[in-house]
Parts: sequence; structure tokens; C-alpha cells
Amino acid sequence: MQTTVARRVTSLPPRKKLSVGDVSQVARPVLGADMPVALFRVVRLIAMEDILGRSVGSMLYNAGEKIGLSLDVASPAELVNLIEALKIGKVEVVEASAHRVVADVYECVTCSGLERVGYTICHFEAGLVAGALTKITRGSVFVKETRCIGGLGDPMCRMEATIK
Ligand SMILES: [Zn+2]
Repeated sequence: MQTTVARRVTSLPPRKKLSVGDVSQVARPVLGADMPVALFRVVRLIAMEDILGRSVGSMLYNAGEKIGLSLDVASPAELVNLIEALKIGKVEVVEASAHRVVADVYECVTCSGLERVGYTICHFEAGLVAGALTKITRGSVFVKETRCIGGLGDPMCRMEATIK
């Protein structure tokens, strides 16, 4: 059985690896570049959760981290601007030092307005911030979401970054 799976995987044709720049090129003259937040959430919170189960959190964190590393940002201020330009959320940096950054995200694209689910859910955003801060600081960065609007019923999602 294992051999069959391996054979099937190796026989697949090579695929182009898409970058953030690639997928940012949108040609929709009538409908435009925006879409309803609910559609994003269907993919992110329902479809991915159904397919990946409980491992979805770490996978999304890792995905966000990889994308964060590839972003064209050179400072925390540029990262804040990008997060707001992409409408991921409105960001307020509440603490910033060489070893720790704490930022609150309001109107989070993933969870703002959801009924409280009982656990934090913005793993992709946490990973994205971790990846971008890794690139900016050249340190080892871990980000933990400690407050979450839709996850825990908080007024904001709080991202706490530890930089080593
Ligand atoms: Zn959240």
C-alpha cells in the first residue's frame, strides 16, 4: 500500500511554486481584487480544519512563517503597514524591545465577529508575524497568540513575540 502511494506521488508532474507576488496579480476587471471575508473563513476555518484536523494550527503557523519570511519588509513599522494594507487587521504595537514585541490586532480577518470558540485560532497570523520578525531582526522568533477575538472573546487578538 505504501509503495503504491509513493509511486503515485513520484509520477506527478512538477508544479510551479507560487510566490506572494504571483498570487497578488489579480485580473478581475469587473469583480475587483477583494472578496467577502466569509469566503476566506470558509476555506480557512472550515475546509482546512476538516482536512487537517487538530494539526491545522501548527501547519498554518508554519505556512504563515514561511510567507512572513518572504515578505518585503525591513522594519516593524513596514510590517504593520503591510498587515493593514492587506486588511488582515488593524495593528497597535503595545510593547517593543530587542527581545519582545507585543501587538494587538483589531478587526482580525480570521476571527473578528465569530462567536467564541474557546481557544486561539489565528495561527496563520502569528506565524506570519514570526516569519517577518525573523527576517527583520535576523533572530529566532516565536509568536504566541495570547488573546483572541473569535477564539476567546477578547476585544483584540494579541500577538506576543519572543526574539532570541
Ligand atoms: Zn485571533
